[in-house]
Amino acid sequence: MRMGGIRVPHRKNTAQCQSVRLGVPAAVTIPMSMHIGKYARVTVSKGDTVKVGQLIGEADGFVSSNIHSSVSGTVRKIDEIMTSSGVRVPCVIIDSDGKQEKYEKLSVPEVKDFDSFVKAVKESGVVGLGGAGFPSFVKLNVHDLERVEAVIINAAECEPYITSDTRTMVEKGSYVFKGIELLKKYMGIRRFIIGIESNKTEAVRIMQSLADETEGVEIHVLPSVYPQGGEKVLIYNTVHRLIPRGGLPLDAGVIVVNVTTLAFIAEYMETGMPLVEKCITVDGSAVKEPKNVIAPIGMSIIDVAKAAGGLKCEPAKVLYGGPMMGITVPSMDEPILKNTNAVIFMDKKEAAPPKITACISCGACAAHCPFRLDPRSIARAYKLEDGAALERLGVDLCMECGCCSYVCPAHRPLVQTNKLGKQMLRRYLSAEQAKRENALKERAEKERQEKEAEK
Ligand code: SF4
Ligand code: SF4
Repeated sequence: MRMGGIRVPHRKNTAQCQSVRLGVPAAVTIPMSMHIGKYARVTVSKGDTVKVGQLIGEADGFVSSNIHSSVSGTVRKIDEIMTSSGVRVPCVIIDSDGKQEKYEKLSVPEVKDFDSFVKAVKESGVVGLGGAGFPSFVKLNVHDLERVEAVIINAAECEPYITSDTRTMVEKGSYVFKGIELLKKYMGIRRFIIGIESNKTEAVRIMQSLADETEGVEIHVLPSVYPQGGEKVLIYNTVHRLIPRGGLPLDAGVIVVNVTTLAFIAEYMETGMPLVEKCITVDGSAVKEPKNVIAPIGMSIIDVAKAAGGLKCEPAKVLYGGPMMGITVPSMDEPILKNTNAVIFMDKKEAAPPKITACISCGACAAHCPFRLDPRSIARAYKLEDGAALERLGVDLCMECGCCSYVCPAHRPLVQTNKLGKQMLRRYLSAEQAKRENALKERAEKERQEKEAEK
């Protein structure tokens, strides 16, 4: 039995397109937050000369990530940038000198055991490149390694349009397997499962032929059903285990690593070049020539669009990521981030929002939710500002995959409501926690007063 989902048009127009390296832009804007966790601390100043791979932002906290310059040139400004989630974060703006000189202090990391392996992964600045952006060294820094029964390599790439992971498997398949050998050697893991959708025939063939020569690697070819690449969905569909509510994949005995992230880790161990560029899919109805490009991190979206062959028209909507889970880019000046795997440019017709009508209680949203949540009831609880009901209905379990909205005949904005519902639930839970703490304090005070009175 498999966790459900929906069939969406694949639109993998670029699956056969060899990645093209873009020219160096005149300038890059590199935010200090391209990851989950605390912002990196800026380590350069205005006027500094920097080279490719030089540290410009240092991980600042337990969950944070190093950030490196993607160009050689001069720091024009330390500024702030508004991210697509509406938060202002520090950024470093660098004018490129066009030479792409490599930072001379870079060297291949010295790895001899688990600790030095995790340290090297941290120094590389790699984060979940499938879109999650979680710092990889934190994920791999497992203290009780005996709990890890398998590593699941997420190669599903189930979102329409996106083919950057596919290109990693086709163009850098050997690095995926070098990454597997690293995890075997330094983490002692023996079982690896590559979860890949059936529509990636070339990538499946390459992964299978490499797996045939490698001990402990299973290829699970999964139906091309969205959201096959959702972490919990992939775990269930490969090892048939459920993650407990509020738990982690490790609670199900697995770690999930994106295929491009793993390939990058292996490449870094050979070259010592940190994460400074990204393979991204450029596609959508407004794009003249859909393709996969390798762009320096921090290159603006408008520069990427021009360098990738230009646009047919002014896009009505631009997305970081695919049409199901992608985030609207607020401005074409926004930069390519570490976890950007696609930029989709939509024309007016593709971007036009459907007309929202009243819910007809058909139940399709609940029937197609991979976690069997009930978005219609969640929407009702949100409208009533009923935090207890939101908790009971499990809005926190929603992975925001968008299946419910996609199948809703009334085009209700169910994912958006779920996102707001999660915020409301957090507020409700912290208010409840505060109430409980106050009650405890009051009881302690009452007991103290009673004891005083007895004396
Ligand atoms: S409720 Fe959440 S997890 Fe379920 S289909 Fe909708 S967006 Fe996906
Ligand atoms: S799919 Fe849409 S119309 Fe049907 S029950 Fe859910 S919200 Fe209502």
